[in-house]
Amino acid sequence: MKTTISYPEKAAMGKTGSWRVFRPLFHEDKCIKCWRCWIFCPEGAISRNELPSINYDFCKGCGVCANECPVNTIEMGREEK
Ligand code: SF4
Ligand code: SF4
Repeated sequence: MKTTISYPEKAAMGKTGSWRVFRPLFHEDKCIKCWRCWIFCPEGAISRNELPSINYDFCKGCGVCANECPVNTIEMGREEK
């Protein structure tokens, strides 16, 4: 059976490179471990460890994780070049 979840090693668009404009910033003190960010990230760039961790090699900065987080744990910031 096929799954709709992609994983970083096979992410839908591959490594991001330097074009990302926004970067998710994680404020771990607020996290309630609901894992919505992990479920909805379209690139599979979030891993389930003790807390969510973002693999910036594959994160596209789309903001889905920040949008889905119910307690505003993830903030989108401007990527610094
Ligand atoms: S911004 Fe969030 S949802 Fe979008 S690719 Fe990066 S980690 Fe995934
Ligand atoms: S969606 Fe927010 S609260 Fe839920 S696991 Fe992700 S960062 Fe934590």
